[in-house]
Amino acid sequence: MNYDQNLHTHTAFSDGKDQMEDMVKHAIKLGFKSIGFSDHANMGFEVTGAMTRENVAKSLQTSKALKEKYKGQISVFCGLENDLFSTQDLSPYDYVIGSCHCLIKDGEIIEFDGKKDHVKGVIDRLFNGNGMDFAECYYSTFSRLAETSRIDIVGHADLVTKHSEREQFFDCDGKAYKEFALKAIKKVFERCQVFEINTGAIARGYKTAPYPAPFIMQELKRLGAKMVISSDCHDKNFLDCQFDSALSYAKSFGFDKIYKFDGKFFVGFDL
Ligand SMILES: [Zn+2]
Ligand SMILES: [Zn+2]
Repeated sequence: MNYDQNLHTHTAFSDGKDQMEDMVKHAIKLGFKSIGFSDHANMGFEVTGAMTRENVAKSLQTSKALKEKYKGQISVFCGLENDLFSTQDLSPYDYVIGSCHCLIKDGEIIEFDGKKDHVKGVIDRLFNGNGMDFAECYYSTFSRLAETSRIDIVGHADLVTKHSEREQFFDCDGKAYKEFALKAIKKVFERCQVFEINTGAIARGYKTAPYPAPFIMQELKRLGAKMVISSDCHDKNFLDCQFDSALSYAKSFGFDKIYKFDGKFFVGFDL
């Protein structure tokens, strides 16, 4: 099968390169049946890549207009990538991706989803150079997604491993790491059963494998998660980045269905 949907896409309204309409046109060219926009929620404070209040309104307006304009050619969904610490109104959206891009440590909210040097700085300043403490803090923060008011898809579950192929800030094959990661996954799964296989770090040259890591995929299979595929697209040329290998990746853990959003529900398709 071909996976003909991407629900995790960013446009120029947040930190993506392209205008919404150019993304829609490109999706049609690729033969997609649907596309969902999920720009970064406004945070109420300064965070890299988040939408301004003005752009929150504009993005909703634009995606709704495109939904009408392209009716019959492609389904356009208005989604949002909501961060744990955003206070934005989630009610206008077709779906909400819940993601954790910031950590909370001693009451301070810290961005960590940056380049290698930025992450190293965070680990040095807040965790006395201890990468494992950083990873543990990520998962304890991530697990709070279970308490958010709305979450329809869990975004890039192990984002904390973004640099792991080039720099080992912590041992992500170690027993301790796996234990607290799985504890958090289980907690979030109780709240939301839809998780994504996210190829975004491949598209942007950080990784060669998608999120989440194999041991998390095994656990998600055991729990009965519904998997969707996304490329966390910030550039239309990567709209379907590695979708075929993401399908094989899901299959290799025994998933026999892959899910797509139909505007209301997540529907399973045989793999
Ligand atoms: Zn994200
Ligand atoms: Zn994203």
